[in-house]
Amino acid sequence: MKLIDGKVVAERINGETREKVAELKRRGITPGLAVVLVGEDPASIAYVRNKDKLSKELGFYSEKIELKATIAQEELLAIVRDLNANPAIHGILVQSPLPPQLNEQEIVQALDPAKDVDGLHPMNIGKLAMGDLTALVPCTPLGCQRLIAESGIEMCGAHVVIIGRSMLVGKPLALLLMRKGKGGDATVTVAHSRSRDLPQITRSADVLVAAIGKPEFVRSEFVREGAVVIDVGVNRIDDPAKPKGYRLTGDVAFDEVAPKTRAITPVPGGVGPMTVAMLMANTIAACQNQTGLFAES
Ligand code: NAP
Repeated sequence: MKLIDGKVVAERINGETREKVAELKRRGITPGLAVVLVGEDPASIAYVRNKDKLSKELGFYSEKIELKATIAQEELLAIVRDLNANPAIHGILVQSPLPPQLNEQEIVQALDPAKDVDGLHPMNIGKLAMGDLTALVPCTPLGCQRLIAESGIEMCGAHVVIIGRSMLVGKPLALLLMRKGKGGDATVTVAHSRSRDLPQITRSADVLVAAIGKPEFVRSEFVREGAVVIDVGVNRIDDPAKPKGYRLTGDVAFDEVAPKTRAITPVPGGVGPMTVAMLMANTIAACQNQTGLFAES
């Protein structure tokens, strides 16, 4: 069994991004990222802090915009429009989930698709579905694909089963892995809460991706001997023995599943660091596109 170390791969990608930032700066351009946080969801606060910190470390111009949970839709839309018009900002991310009074879809649709580094605007999802390589692709699916490729796992012709059909992970990942060409050409099955006899479906997977949001949901009987398992789940479990009072666990029961696998990602330290690394890579691509420089990734 090989442990797929997302931290190591993410550090390598961040190193490449640092060099690209330096190259852009030599041409007089500083790539800019704005991360918008609404409210005080503890997980969102931690994600936004990580994104802001890494973007600064890599040399980006970074804006962290923190807003009250009670903000009105129109106010948030006005902030998005200002960021769309701000030439110092090449990438905008509005951290989800948003408080219930806000219409998340309308906010995403208000983003300039060229600055939509989360890849969730219908224009980018549409381009992804059409196989248009200029699409900005959602960061977590992109991170999963890159992690699989960097681990030497061939996608072409492989049967991938994804548990989860969200717009954030499952759906775009399916589009990405079935796309023609490098890193794609997989046969993809997408399962969800209404799928019948889930373990039978997942046992047919060469590569099983869990994006469910239920701690240790995937047990040994879900996985065939020699499969690759990518665990996207991040779940907080109360644990008084830990300094923070909780620990993180994935959607896969790691201890019982790992021995059966050819390769598996841990949680934390698997897909998580890749998501942030791909956000930075997307911001570079967006900056290159907006400034007329060719984006090669
Ligand atoms: P989501 O929007 O809640 O979607 C969960 C999906 O799992 C849904 O499609 C749901 O099916 C399916 N599901 C739920 N219960 C199921 C069951 N019993 N059997 C089969 N399928 C079931 O969640 P998400 O945003 O995709 O996130 C999924 C997980 O990934 C979460 O733990 C989240 O924290 C994590 N995540 C991690 C990263 C990262 O960077 N590592 C990034 C994003 C998300 P239905 O559609 O039928 O309801």
